[in-house]
Amino acid sequence: MRIGIIGGGQLGMMIAEAAKKMNHNITSLDPLQNASITKFSDLHIAKDYDDEEALEYLYENCDVLTYEFENVNLNLLDSYNDKLPQGTFSLRMSRDRISEKNFARSLGIPIVQFKIIKDVEDIVIPSILKTTTGGYDGKGQSKITEKTQIDQLSLKDDKTYICEEIINFDYEVSVICSRDKEGTIAFFPIPINNHVNGILHTSTIHQPIEKIIRDKAYEYTTKIINALHYVGTMAVEYFVVGEDLIFNEFAPRPHNSGHYTINGCDVSQFDNHVLAITGQKVAFPKQEGYTTMLNVLGQNRDLLDNPCAKNNVEVYSYEKNSSIKNRKIGHININDSNIEEILMTLKSITKE
Ligand code: ADP
Ligand code: MG
Repeated sequence: MRIGIIGGGQLGMMIAEAAKKMNHNITSLDPLQNASITKFSDLHIAKDYDDEEALEYLYENCDVLTYEFENVNLNLLDSYNDKLPQGTFSLRMSRDRISEKNFARSLGIPIVQFKIIKDVEDIVIPSILKTTTGGYDGKGQSKITEKTQIDQLSLKDDKTYICEEIINFDYEVSVICSRDKEGTIAFFPIPINNHVNGILHTSTIHQPIEKIIRDKAYEYTTKIINALHYVGTMAVEYFVVGEDLIFNEFAPRPHNSGHYTINGCDVSQFDNHVLAITGQKVAFPKQEGYTTMLNVLGQNRDLLDNPCAKNNVEVYSYEKNSSIKNRKIGHININDSNIEEILMTLKSITKE
């Protein structure tokens, strides 16, 4: 099939890689001439994501379209919905934290308490102040613990803000799953995610998480993916507090915390995304040993240039020349039947 991919970053690149293995033809759209995806795409259009002519070309010349990120022009994409299995409804819900949380709450899923902020006076102490759109990797967020922080704040006129209660979670998980056109949902093993400064640091698959949490995770995520009529791979992030699971956010696309599946399962989140959007049945992933995925940020480029030479360590570079601080430029999967071995290798790589 001819697949058009909107967005050419690492997610687009890994979708394209999986699609090429299945002999599909890829046209990619990304303003960067040398975007990561060009390693695998057959034709690259170096135009803006909301360039009407470029989108029209993708629509006319591809059998199916997919997006790898959320900041696309929704009004434009609406007219291409018949070739967009992920749909624009899922994007409409996910790209604004208020609609995202209200959507989860409407399905009976516990969410983080939040308040819409019109003025600095409305900010609650303590809380996490977040912009409602455009945030990722902890950007657009500040933890407010003292009044003096509020005094120094100025809210931007063109942004909407919420403040959220600070959840003292035991740990964080994400549910990665793929749904096909028949409505069958395939779940991947649930990773435990460790964030540093709001940026995903590691995702680890070890022993399955407690059954009561797992059951809730599957129940809530099934409600979400079905209500979105979503086709493709998506991820839902939750906070775990005791036996409770609290919805944080979802991403209607493959997700950073699912990169472990490339080595940790017999089918990856990208393979299942491609299967689903091309109208095939999703595969039920089998876990292969234990895995930890470590994100590599710009300041740690050395990990990509001088990779650890163990045979249970796989290094993935996103072909980005930049070494910008906190920018994701690759990831490392450590896969082994022995979790102690994984943790020791992780320590030796991160030198922590
Ligand atoms: P992003 O869109 O940047 O991923 P998130 O809302 O997922 O935004 O926040 C990033 C990380 O910050 C979370 O994974 C979590 O570690 C921390 N965080 C965010 N909101 C809260 C909260 N209300 N309570 C506690 N920790 C939070
Ligand atoms: Mg998040």
